[in-house]
Amino acid sequence: MSAFVPDSVPRGTRIAHIGIAVTALDALRPLYRDVLGMPEVPLDDADGARIAGLAVGESLVELLEPAVADSPIGKFIAKRGPGIHHVCFAVDDLDGTLQRCRDAGITLIDEQPRLGAEGKRIAFLHPRSTGGVLVELSEH
Ligand code: ZN
Repeated sequence: MSAFVPDSVPRGTRIAHIGIAVTALDALRPLYRDVLGMPEVPLDDADGARIAGLAVGESLVELLEPAVADSPIGKFIAKRGPGIHHVCFAVDDLDGTLQRCRDAGITLIDEQPRLGAEGKRIAFLHPRSTGGVLVELSEH
C-alpha cells in the first residue's frame, strides 16, 4: 500500500480502485476475499452504499451495494443491472488534473473536489467524455 511513500512524492497516475455495483455484497465477498485471495480493507459507507474494499496489489476492488434504492448505486443497478460502475484513477495533482480536463473540454460531474469514501479528495468525470465509463479521480 502507500504507507511507505510520502504523499508529496509524485507517483504518476494509477488505478486506485474499480467500483463494482452489486445487489448482495455479503454473497460476493467470499469469492473476492477467499477464492481469489484479495485481503479485505475496511471502508466506510458512502453515497448511500455499503462498501467492501478488497486489495489487489496497490489497487482495490470496491463492491458497492445500495443501502437505499434512491442512491447513485441503486439507480445504476435499476437501470443497467450489476456490473462495473466506475474506475478510479489516483493522480498526483487533482486540481491540476481537473483544470487540464476543463481545458480539454471534458464534462466534469464535480466542478470542485469533494471528500470520498476513503477521506481523500475526489472528483468524477462524466461518462460521455470518457468512452462511456464513469471515471473518478482521487488524490493519493
Ligand atoms: Zn470510487
